[in-house]
Amino acid sequence: MAEEEKDDLGIEFRIGSKAAQNYRLDPKSVSRQMKQKKYDPDDPISWKSEDFSQEMIADYKPFNFVDGEGVRCSLYVSGCLFACPGCYNLAAQNFRYGHPFTKELEDQIIKDLANSYVDGLTLLGGEPFLNTSVCLKVVKRIRKEFGHAKTIWSWSGYTWEELQQGTPDKKELLSLIDILVDGRFVEEKKDLTLQFRGSSNQKIIDVQKSLQEGKIHIWDRLLK
Ligand code: SF4
Repeated sequence: MAEEEKDDLGIEFRIGSKAAQNYRLDPKSVSRQMKQKKYDPDDPISWKSEDFSQEMIADYKPFNFVDGEGVRCSLYVSGCLFACPGCYNLAAQNFRYGHPFTKELEDQIIKDLANSYVDGLTLLGGEPFLNTSVCLKVVKRIRKEFGHAKTIWSWSGYTWEELQQGTPDKKELLSLIDILVDGRFVEEKKDLTLQFRGSSNQKIIDVQKSLQEGKIHIWDRLLK
């Protein structure tokens, strides 16, 4: 246990350093599974969730007002490879951070969402699209139990365009969500006045309308 804690803290420290590139390449800072995988750090389209996800959850916050429209339950998955300078959630870049996703947590999310005042679920991270096994499980259950009565929002470091070229699991996850806040956090474009975004390159996209129209449809209720 102590070893794990020490190891995890070490990983967080390395991720938090300026040497994001070192994090990607330092064999001590990645899990055994990641070590065995070869991947191109500059080609996010080629990254596969199955190669990296450890099905870990950094946090779960029910009944909040900040992660999208209305009252929301937020699931923070662990693990992200984008390593944006100024990332708002450094600890969650680690694929082994937090706690394993469990059936008990899945049931709790469904129970929380059943409250009539809850608008829906928000997926954040870490990177939801590099944790598709967990996210697909949850969003499919939500659609099964609530249909479209609950909305699903997701933040992602992937852009809309990248997800269009993504692996089938990424496309499936995208097809099941309502609103996507897309793109890396770019410190030079940071703007704290933006609605639900940290930097001006990011877009709030109505996924279902965009898929129907075959082009990006910005969320109709965007104020800024
Ligand atoms: S995409 Fe998001 S979670 Fe990943 S490094 Fe960038 S800001 Fe952090």
